[in-house]
Amino acid sequence: MGEPDQQAFQEVNQNSPEAIPVQMRQIEGREWWLWGFAVAVTLALTLGIVSFTFPWFHFEADSSYWFDLREWVRGLAGLVLLFDVYTVYQHFQLQSIRRQLAERDQLFQLISENAADMIALVDSEGRRLYNSPAYEKVLGYSAEDLKNTSSFDQIHPDDRPRVLQAAEKARSSGQGERVEYRILHKDGSWRTLESTASAIRNAKGQTEKLVIVNRDITERKRAEELLVHNAFHDGLTNLPNRALFLDRLQHALTLSKKHSNYMFAVLLIDVDEFKVINDSLGHTAGDELLIQIGRRLTESVRRADTVSRPRVTGVVEKSANEGTLARLGGDEFTILLDDIRDPIEAVRVAERVQAELTPPFMVNGQEVVISASIGIASSTTPHTQAEDLVRDADIAMYRAKRTGKARCEVFDTAMHANAVKRLRLETDLRKALDQGEFRVYYQPIVSLQTGRIVGFEALSRWQRPEGVVPPIDFIPVAEETGLIIPINRQLRLEACRQVMAWQNQFPANPPLTMSMNITAKEFAQPDLASEIGKTIEQTGIDPACLRLEIVETIAMGDAEKSGKVLSQLKGLGVHLSIDDFGTGYSSLSRLRRIPVDTLKIDRVFIMNMDTDPENQEIVRVIITLAHNLGLKVVAEGAETEAHVKQLQQLNCEQAQGYFFSRPADEKAMTQLLAASPGVRSAAASV
Ligand code: C2E
Ligand code: MG
Ligand code: MG
Repeated sequence: MGEPDQQAFQEVNQNSPEAIPVQMRQIEGREWWLWGFAVAVTLALTLGIVSFTFPWFHFEADSSYWFDLREWVRGLAGLVLLFDVYTVYQHFQLQSIRRQLAERDQLFQLISENAADMIALVDSEGRRLYNSPAYEKVLGYSAEDLKNTSSFDQIHPDDRPRVLQAAEKARSSGQGERVEYRILHKDGSWRTLESTASAIRNAKGQTEKLVIVNRDITERKRAEELLVHNAFHDGLTNLPNRALFLDRLQHALTLSKKHSNYMFAVLLIDVDEFKVINDSLGHTAGDELLIQIGRRLTESVRRADTVSRPRVTGVVEKSANEGTLARLGGDEFTILLDDIRDPIEAVRVAERVQAELTPPFMVNGQEVVISASIGIASSTTPHTQAEDLVRDADIAMYRAKRTGKARCEVFDTAMHANAVKRLRLETDLRKALDQGEFRVYYQPIVSLQTGRIVGFEALSRWQRPEGVVPPIDFIPVAEETGLIIPINRQLRLEACRQVMAWQNQFPANPPLTMSMNITAKEFAQPDLASEIGKTIEQTGIDPACLRLEIVETIAMGDAEKSGKVLSQLKGLGVHLSIDDFGTGYSSLSRLRRIPVDTLKIDRVFIMNMDTDPENQEIVRVIITLAHNLGLKVVAEGAETEAHVKQLQQLNCEQAQGYFFSRPADEKAMTQLLAASPGVRSAAASV
């Protein structure tokens, strides 16, 4: 189809599909008349000539000559007749083919006019011959707009070579490959099309035109891109997620192995006490806080980025922020600090991040102050896997948490060894719990007025084949892993039963008490009070004989929350003690308001009391303070007679320490009770 074809198409375009058969029938009608006329004329002429050969015409001529001529004329007339019949037959055929072609044409017309896909016909030079109306609907261009442009004009320059290649292939093989490309919408935006070209060949087999069917796949593409984006980004903060971060990190790690002057660091940032925030303000507020933290970190990274890049030119080719800051999950964020000179730069960035997170956040109209612990691992590592590097940063971060939070730690090999040890301990602890390797030891608490044992503190011991493990070596790990909860549940049950047994065996007034330690993890458990309530119910112990020890830092922590938990516990009728008093920061007004009964002075003050007058002064102040607040005092760590005497002079009510007994098992304690002055054995009294 050349220019005339286009005209034909445009003419056809102007006519409605219904008008075409009418027009065609008119032309065909005229044609029939012409053909009929031609056939009738030839027949009439032939018949006229033949009629001369019949006897009623007598020519004065040689009869043999006339006879021959007559035969020739009749034969010729027969041929003309046959020719006419064949012509009419041919005409029928031709007309039927024409009708079929017209129908097909009409069908193509209908399809192309109504299809949502854009159908174009271009010549071998790419000039437009026809564009279906869908072009205007999808791309906004009218037929007039398209007339003056080539079919390549609106294609994105980057995609043109691919489209040309596909067109070339269609020309040579007849069928082009499916190709995706971007095309300019009239409004200036880019749309994505999927297109296939097919060749129309002339009689010589040369490709004259291409029919191109284009489908607008912009929305599908967007949906696909969104899916890919979602697979690699965190839904809450829209920051890259773990998968994308690990991919970038792996890339950096591989690069650092190839280029010795290329160095990077990984910063693992964990928000301190995020769980507390989440539990107290609710998850929606927690989410909002994470979004805001993400924003502040993005800002830090942007600034760190301008400081730390680019030095090794040509080595790192990626956008500044994408992949350098990620949310690994929960309250854990991570930064890939690219192309640094010295690991100390990472520490500086970590400090900046901490400073950035210091100003209060406004969440639901409430000010929230947070801190973060940061672990740093650098590319100076033998690791080849990104995950290993993140794990190193994680170990360093845990160390930062353990050594006081709101700090940053750089990973070193000793840390790794510790981490391995810790991991083994964790596994062993789980096994120990299954195999019942935990024992309860008891340490007596003695009245300093009467010298009698008034109660015990239950302390965990881990009975391993190689010896007894003290709590300092396993309680922190049990606490971190949450194993402390089942361990202590068991201990409480056993200790309650034990004290009831002793109360029966050694009745006293008031009856013997049992002190138990509550850790931070337990204290944060919302069902702590009901859990302890269950133990009381299960064992039938008088709750007044139960003393729950909560260390000062936890009891004095988040005012509202700890006050609530302490009141719930107090509601059970148990006795509450503040353990290790003097090591934390207690506010006097808080101390007055919380429902505690006893202060347990930390053993460091007692143990050094006789040698350090300052400690003695501290003990004296604590005792006076406690008495002023109407609280009783228990001194821990009374190791010598001198300690006991001094405590008696200071009016301390009770003491616990090696001077009386080291913690020991139930059997040893029963013997001690039996021998203890002033403790009457029930059996003996009978
Ligand atoms: P704590 O609650 O302050 O327990 C008193 C600790 O002081 C015990 O250490 C005890 O053996 C030690 N102690 C008592 N008198 C003396 C003394 O005269 N000199 C010295 N040097 N130490 C003395 P232990 O049993 O090693 O427990 C250490 C800490 O572990 C406990 O401190 C407590 O916080 C925790 N803990 C122990 N068992 C458990 C348990 O079953 N559950 C929980 N949650 N914590 C426990
Ligand atoms: Mg204690
Ligand atoms: Mg203590």
